[in-house]
Amino acid sequence: MNLPSDVIDRLVLPNAIHEFVLEVKMDNGKKKLFNAFRIQHNNNLGPYKGGIRFHQNVSRDEVQALATLMSIKCAVAGLPYGGGKGGIIFNPKECSEKELERITVAFGKAISPIIGPEIDVPAPDVNTNGQIMKWLTDEYIKNSSSKSKFKKSQLRATFTGKMLSEGGTLGRTEATGRGGVAITEALLEKLGKKRSEMKVAVQGFGNVGFYYAKIAIERGMSVIAVSDSKGGVTGTEELDIDQIMKCKKEKGEVAGCYCVGGVCDISKGKKITNAQLLELPVDILVPAALENVINKENMSKIQAKIIIEMANGPISEEAYDYLTKKGVLIVPDVLANSGGVAVSYLEWYQNMKGQTWSEEKVNKKLHSMMKDAFEEIWQTYKKRKSSLKQAAFETAIGRMLKK
Ligand code: NAD
Repeated sequence: MNLPSDVIDRLVLPNAIHEFVLEVKMDNGKKKLFNAFRIQHNNNLGPYKGGIRFHQNVSRDEVQALATLMSIKCAVAGLPYGGGKGGIIFNPKECSEKELERITVAFGKAISPIIGPEIDVPAPDVNTNGQIMKWLTDEYIKNSSSKSKFKKSQLRATFTGKMLSEGGTLGRTEATGRGGVAITEALLEKLGKKRSEMKVAVQGFGNVGFYYAKIAIERGMSVIAVSDSKGGVTGTEELDIDQIMKCKKEKGEVAGCYCVGGVCDISKGKKITNAQLLELPVDILVPAALENVINKENMSKIQAKIIIEMANGPISEEAYDYLTKKGVLIVPDVLANSGGVAVSYLEWYQNMKGQTWSEEKVNKKLHSMMKDAFEEIWQTYKKRKSSLKQAAFETAIGRMLKK
């Protein structure tokens, strides 16, 4: 983009790094200290937005990098938000429910002065969920309602990813997968390809992979391979995603669950490893599990001509360059999986306006937001003849600087 170095320096550095030491009473009566962060990267486009993660490997550098990526993702999706991220260094699986609540509330108290519906809007991330958001929201409202110009119901907009009973929105659970399918459809339209002719393989059968696969089929594509951490299945027929989920719940894994038209029978299909799934001769490959699964070891074996990055960073930089040069179209994660944060924005919007939307209305709005986001990046991509990732970052940075 030929930006001057002072502008680049400013974009790289976050606006604020908040570090906290939380002192929490544990079940054994002793106090324990926890290190926590909230990093606010850039708010040129609107309030900071980004999740809070609870994990023993959380570090300041990681939170800062993730906050930066949230600035890019929100700008790519055309949202009036900047980027932020937070985290506490601990393993929540080693705590009792009561300890988890006390740690969360201590963090809520610490961040109360630096967040708010128009300042910084956190959300769930690794190991955090609607219950954690409820504890945080209650603590925030307790600390701020007397000083705030907002009604209590609007103060709830300070957190998204809330349970429905707490002001959450319909459509959030499926949003990332649904948004990814909307982006895929927009790409196919540009390429003049028919959805009904697309064979798709999806790696990962969690929230993102499951809904991507299910909605892709609803929208006319044919998903012929899926997998979870233990391996997967493939065959010649379109899979029955709901039936595979039922079978996975019984068997504990996707491998062995070859289900077509309501019937599961592995002898009609084939068990595959995760490595084999990535190398299948499909039209569209959707890595929706982990980072760096497509790398220099396997990049030459990838046969799909379109890859939709639903996981964060599933393709290493080297593999991205190699595949792009080979003519593979890769929709970058900052665009492909931005449906989740887009619906978080719709949750925030409903809370602020005192509205409750139907699921249909949320889905429709998400679809049009994703289509618009794709269109802009596609135009930049065409003009600059670069990769979609380059186009997405240029569009995002351009928006952040213009404001
Ligand atoms: P999840 O925990 O619900 O599911 C992860 C899935 O990946 C599970 O099915 C697991 O079995 C599978 N998996 C683990 N190791 C694997 C391996 N080696 N090979 C194949 N599959 C493996 O997580 P999720 O919410 O679906 O998130 C998946 C990815 O999408 C992550 O990179 C996440 O950061 C990203 N993402 C999620 C959201 C969201 O709204 N949930 C939004 C943006 C990005």
